[in-house]
Amino acid sequence: MSVNKKNSKNKIDSKPKCGLCGKRKKLVKTDCCGNWICDDEDKYALFSYARNSCSRNHRRFTLCGHHNAEEHKGDWKNCQECLKDFEHELEMYVWYGTNEYNFTKLESSPAFEPTYCSKCGKRIVLPDGGYSVLCDVYRCDQCEITEKEREKIIRDYKRKKK
Ligand SMILES: [Zn+2]
Ligand SMILES: [Zn+2]
Ligand SMILES: [Zn+2]
Ligand SMILES: [Zn+2]
Repeated sequence: MSVNKKNSKNKIDSKPKCGLCGKRKKLVKTDCCGNWICDDEDKYALFSYARNSCSRNHRRFTLCGHHNAEEHKGDWKNCQECLKDFEHELEMYVWYGTNEYNFTKLESSPAFEPTYCSKCGKRIVLPDGGYSVLCDVYRCDQCEITEKEREKIIRDYKRKKK
């Protein structure tokens, strides 16, 4: 008996699976791009900041999801509006477009200036969190903004805006 290779190749696995984690249970198609994904938003506990829901992660933490939620037109990968939305934090744009919650990733990500703590100079990786920002002034979580500094930052910012 010979195995017909051509035939077995044609018989692709037609059962859908989540494009992010590969599970086959309880799937839905995403609104934004029509890919199969776990129907698991109910797993997410409010304010827990957990990233255990495929569906939510794609919706909340990708350009594809953002693009759809903002009702932009065309392909998110060359959407100028998306780029504009993240203009002030290009690092987040790149992360949104290339993180593991994407089905397909941004092919050419723009170069971005890294962010540093305005007090100690430590690099702040925006997608990792652990920082605060006030009027474009970034601080790592070791250098909290004091009340006095807060007033000055706001004053400087208002002066700059004028
Ligand atoms: Zn999944
Ligand atoms: Zn999508
Ligand atoms: Zn867009
Ligand atoms: Zn710092």
